[in-house]
Amino acid sequence: MTFDSLGLSEAILKAIAQKGYTKPSPIQEKAIPLVLQGNDVLASAQTGTGKTAGFTLPILHSLSTQNKWKRRPVRALILTPTRELAAQVYDNVRAYSEFIDIKSAVIFGGVKPKPQITTIRRGVDVLVATPGRLLDLINQQALSLSKIETFVLDEADRMLDMGFLRDIKKILALMPEERQNLLFSATFSSDIKALANTFMNAPVAVETAPQNTTAEKVKQTFYNVNKADKAQAVIEMVKKGNWNQVLIFTRTKHGANRLSEKLYKAGVSSAAIHGNKSQTARTKALEGFKKNSIRVLVATDIAARGLDIPLLPHVINYELPNVPEDYVHRIGRTGRAGASGEAISLVSGEELKYALDIEKLLKLKLPMQNLEGYDFKAPTAQELKELKKGPSKTTSPKANRKPGASKKKKPGETPKWVQSKRNAASKLGRAKYRK
Ligand code: AMP
Repeated sequence: MTFDSLGLSEAILKAIAQKGYTKPSPIQEKAIPLVLQGNDVLASAQTGTGKTAGFTLPILHSLSTQNKWKRRPVRALILTPTRELAAQVYDNVRAYSEFIDIKSAVIFGGVKPKPQITTIRRGVDVLVATPGRLLDLINQQALSLSKIETFVLDEADRMLDMGFLRDIKKILALMPEERQNLLFSATFSSDIKALANTFMNAPVAVETAPQNTTAEKVKQTFYNVNKADKAQAVIEMVKKGNWNQVLIFTRTKHGANRLSEKLYKAGVSSAAIHGNKSQTARTKALEGFKKNSIRVLVATDIAARGLDIPLLPHVINYELPNVPEDYVHRIGRTGRAGASGEAISLVSGEELKYALDIEKLLKLKLPMQNLEGYDFKAPTAQELKELKKGPSKTTSPKANRKPGASKKKKPGETPKWVQSKRNAASKLGRAKYRK
């Protein structure tokens, strides 16, 4: 199949050609015609499948071929969980709309709101936003959602994971009832399905890979390595393999910092990216990584969410995630858009319970092996029994938000930073909308 047969305008086809895409990805093949027909679409797709173009292209086509509004109210809203993803989606929207008369903007927290307000006041057709800043600007009457025709909830699973459910509900209530809804998610928990039921209208389900499966082109390797040996093992792997672009996942922000420092001291250029870093520092690290001036990017799950790093060859799970769905997301950073990639997981004895959770989710046995040159202290049968029994996490992300965000955090408790963000947004919303 070619892009020409999907019903997109010449101007959009020109932009696609300029991006160098020759044929639509499976999700694009399925989603584009459905979105063009005006359907609500519920799509199971992770980052790396080309999902952004899957919803952006038909939206841009529809908006650019309809009657124009003089003052350009926001007609399409794309809601994303993180700043990085918002910035990426916006870059795509801009590239695809190069040859059409459509204006777009991106808004997210962590930067001054004033320039964002000025841009919106000048008129914007497509707005990419994170929930907190969006509600903030609505509350300041800087923008209205009353003319929204299409709403996209991108990475819905991560949205819920980050505690944005209340914000999403608030945002939904501010849009006209008659609109098109598109929901994209890498995983489909019962919470996502329940949310979709509340606002979608007879959605057509689109699935390009079976749910909760890992990308086919990703070679997955699992090494049993003691916790204390992991840093050395990673340094050796990167150096011996002469790897130049490696994304490493840690469970905690401190863990990310520590590992990044160790790599740096061992002569491997590296940067850590996580929620405690300023937006500028995160953008700088990501740019350095993309340009190959930084070999290793060490990231926590939330910071890495949705990062678009084309053709990333290596992903290392320095620690297994305690939310098994995150494993699927993490390894989705490699093997992008059809290219093959490698995901290596280092699993200590204490983490075997997380491995079991991942096995349960993926419905397959993870092939563990020892790493050459490293003795592994396997847990005894009794210890293993305890681990299995122990407070292993559920597969529900709700119960496992932002692991390690706070040492005082009880298991299952919403981290303070998420809670305060939610409270602030919720207060803003209440102040205005309960009147
Ligand atoms: P996404 O899943 O939307 O984050 O896209 C992942 C990557 O695939 C991005 O770098 C896109 O620019 C790229 N991409 C999207 N669609 C295509 C396509 N049809 N052919 C080649 N690359 C694509």
